[in-house]
Amino acid sequence: MYDNYYPSNYENLIVGADTTVPLRNGRLVTAINFDNAATTPPFCAVMQEIMNFSPWYSSIHRGTGYKSQLSSHFYENARKTVGEFVNADLSKDTVIFVKNTTEAINKVAHSLSSTDEQPVVLSTCMEHHSNDLPWRRNYRVGYIDIDEDGRLNIEDLKYKLEKYNGSVKLVVVTGASNVTGHKNPIYEIATLVHQYNCKILVDGAQLVPHSPVEMKPHSSPQHIDYLVFSGHKMYAPFGIGVLVAPQTSFSTNPPDLVGGGTVDLVTHNQILWADVPQREEAGTPNVFGVVALIAAIKTLSQLDMKKIEYHEYRLMEYALMRMRQVPEVELYGDCIHLKNRVSIVPFNIKGISHDLTAKILSMEGGIAVRNGCFCAQPYVQKLLGIPDEKLQEHIQHPELPRPGMVRISFGLYNQIHEIDKLIALLWTITSNKQ
Ligand code: PLP
Repeated sequence: MYDNYYPSNYENLIVGADTTVPLRNGRLVTAINFDNAATTPPFCAVMQEIMNFSPWYSSIHRGTGYKSQLSSHFYENARKTVGEFVNADLSKDTVIFVKNTTEAINKVAHSLSSTDEQPVVLSTCMEHHSNDLPWRRNYRVGYIDIDEDGRLNIEDLKYKLEKYNGSVKLVVVTGASNVTGHKNPIYEIATLVHQYNCKILVDGAQLVPHSPVEMKPHSSPQHIDYLVFSGHKMYAPFGIGVLVAPQTSFSTNPPDLVGGGTVDLVTHNQILWADVPQREEAGTPNVFGVVALIAAIKTLSQLDMKKIEYHEYRLMEYALMRMRQVPEVELYGDCIHLKNRVSIVPFNIKGISHDLTAKILSMEGGIAVRNGCFCAQPYVQKLLGIPDEKLQEHIQHPELPRPGMVRISFGLYNQIHEIDKLIALLWTITSNKQ
């Protein structure tokens, strides 16, 4: 059933699908990449588009040459393509090109910060450090609880919105966890948040590449006020990311990064900042990054995000079904309501460190995974049931092995037979252990 299901053209969409890597015994095997939550390989169409655009590549905005004009036109038009992809209303929102999700979140944190008051931001216990640490600087942060499977506790959100009513400025929440893949009900959360006159920021790093996302009209209670995501997790290369935000949210503070491109008028005594988005894009913009991002968005749209979502769901469902059969494999997260997860599967093998499991998968199977805490230490510790006090030991004894998990995460090009190889290796590891 699963073999028949696989739409066999997906694997040809990415660069390096048939790359070989050496195993411990020196044998070469085709690499299997189950580390897509970290970074996806680029689409062939993305690399081709970079090549196609190369003859026209030029510094933008200020040049009068034909190439510069053309590059500027492409770059500015790209904002519209991004806006359409996530259904933003660009009469009210602005699309700002940044390096990545981390930079986008830091930018919002800077733009909303105030020296007079320390507003409350509600974050959650399941965030990537990039959607946690930026808020610890100039805000009072409350963390919304999770349940034992690592799902967000919506009742706790309601409780905290009520408790801090009047002081909460923003609720920041991941669209999908990079550890368990749990998707948060972002539209339900947005509706709640707006009832309290606050705004919502959705970290879309793990959601946008895997599910359709809509920011919805500003008049809708389900409207997403801020959306951030990274190109390198959606089949474009590193160095390009997106922040979609209300145009008005950058009027209070000066830009976080200042310099060329951010200003309209400068004297030695006065600075008149440019309008958004330019005032938030300091320095020479990353034109190739935007070319790549747009090619990735076009490819994803042509494939249809709904079909991608379903396909990856099937991969995850199959992987979980097979992993459950392997004795001593411990799975984390909600393994029943799979429709509420993107295709990320964290696990451990009882009695074997996450570090060793990941090494064996790489050296004996050519399978790339990630292990550790995935830049979400508080979340992973909670899932593993490790109290904060216990972690003090690691400060005193840095030589102690750190707690963690192994994570496999699928991209749209992964295949059932690759999962079969993983399962076979897990069986070998667990049977050799006894
Ligand atoms: N948020 C989530 C949920 C992530 O998974 C990641 C990266 O793994 C980030 C934010 C940070 O993304 P970037 O490193 O591209 O800034």
